[in-house]
Amino acid sequence: MTSSPRRIIILGATGTVGVRALQIIEESPVEWQICAVSAHSQGQQLGSLVSSSTAQYLTSSSSEHQSLIELLRTGDYDICLNAIVGAAGLPFSEAVLSAGCDLALANKESLVMAGAILMPLAAKNSATIVPVDSEHSAIFQCLNGEDAPIKQLFLTASGGALRDMPLDELASATPEQALAHPNWSMGPRITIDSATMMNKAFEIIEAHWLFGVDAAQITVLLHRQSVIHSMVEFIDGSVIAQLGPPDMGFPLHYALHYPTRQKSTLNGFDAGLFSELSLRQPEDARFPALALAHQAIEAGGDAGAVLNAADEIAVEAFLAGDISFADIAMLCEGALHNCCADSCDTIDDVLAADQRSREYCKKQLSFA
Ligand code: NDP
Ligand code: MG
Repeated sequence: MTSSPRRIIILGATGTVGVRALQIIEESPVEWQICAVSAHSQGQQLGSLVSSSTAQYLTSSSSEHQSLIELLRTGDYDICLNAIVGAAGLPFSEAVLSAGCDLALANKESLVMAGAILMPLAAKNSATIVPVDSEHSAIFQCLNGEDAPIKQLFLTASGGALRDMPLDELASATPEQALAHPNWSMGPRITIDSATMMNKAFEIIEAHWLFGVDAAQITVLLHRQSVIHSMVEFIDGSVIAQLGPPDMGFPLHYALHYPTRQKSTLNGFDAGLFSELSLRQPEDARFPALALAHQAIEAGGDAGAVLNAADEIAVEAFLAGDISFADIAMLCEGALHNCCADSCDTIDDVLAADQRSREYCKKQLSFA
C-alpha cells in the first residue's frame, strides 16, 4: 500500500529557517506535497525556491495575508511550519491551531506573546506544537516517552557574538560586531537577540509554556560549542541531553517527520566537535535581558507581548545606529514596567499590548 504525500504549508519560506526546511524536504525519504509557501518582502523568490506545481505562493500584502489565514483555517493540510520572524507570525499560529492541525513552530514569538492562549487552543483541538527552536526540540526529544515529572530544564546558550568582549566595551558594541555569531547562521533579529541573550529570555518563556514548568525550574547555561542543545533533569536526578552539530537541519528534520524518526543525510556525531564541551553560569551583568524573562513570566497577562514588541523596536533601532547595544535591554525593561495591562484574554488583547509597547518605545526613541 502506498501512503499519500504529507501535505505542508511553509510560512517564511524565504528566511534562514524556511530555506533550510525546503532543503530537508527535498532530501526527505517521505513524499511531500507543498500546498503553499509564504514570503514578506522577497515574494519574487518563491518561484525559484519551490518549483512544485501544487504550491500557492503568497506574500503578506493585505489581500494575500487574508487568503493565507483562510487557507490555514480550512485545515486542508497535515502540518504547517511557521518560520516567520517576529510578532507577525502570531495570527498564523493561531489559525493553524484553530484548525486542529499540527504546528512546527520556529516562530517562538507566538508563544512568548500568547502562550496562555495558544497552549489551551492546541489542547482543545488536539493539535500538536512541535518546537523547531533547537533547545526546545532537544527538550521535546528528551521528554518523548517519559511521564516522570521534570525537576529542572537546562537551556544552553552560546552567548552570542559578544560573549568575549570586555564588559566595559559592551555598551558601545556595533551592529557589525553583534551580527557576527560564532556558531549559528541566522536572520538578523535573532542574531542580535543572541548577543543580548534576549533570545534566551524568549526561550525561557517559550519553555515555560511548552513544557508547563515554572521559571524557577529553568536554568540557562553558557555552552560555547552549541553541541548540547539542552537537557532535562528528572525527579530521580537523571539528566538526559540531546547533542549534535549546530545546524537547524536536525530540529527541522525531527519536527517535520514527527511523530516518526526518518532517515536523513545529516551526520550527528563529530568527534572533533564533541571533544571539549563546557558549561558555565552566565554573568548577570553581561546579560541583563535574562532577568526580564522572569519578570515577564511573573507578571503574566500581556507581559510577553510587551517584551517582544519592545525588543523588535529596539533591535531595529540598534541596527539603524539610533541606540547603543546597552539601550536594547533598557528600552525593553522600560516597556515592561510601563505598558502591561491587567487582563489579556484574547489574541486581540495581545495585539493591543504589542501596539502599546511599540508606541511607548517609539516615543522613548524620539526623546533619545
Ligand atoms: P529570517 O529573517 O531569516 O526570515 C524571516 C522570514 O519571515 C522571511 O521569510 C521573511 O520574508 C518573513 N517575514 C518577515 N517579516 C514578515 C511579516 N511581517 N509578515 C510575514 N512574513 C514575514 O529569520 P529566521 O529564519 O532566522 O527566523 C525565523 C523564526 O525562526 C524566528 O522566529 C526566529 O526566532 C526562529 N528561529 C530561527 C533560528 C535560526 O537558526 N535562524 C533558530 C531558532 C529559531 P521575506 O524574506 O520575504 O521578507
Ligand atoms: Mg534557540
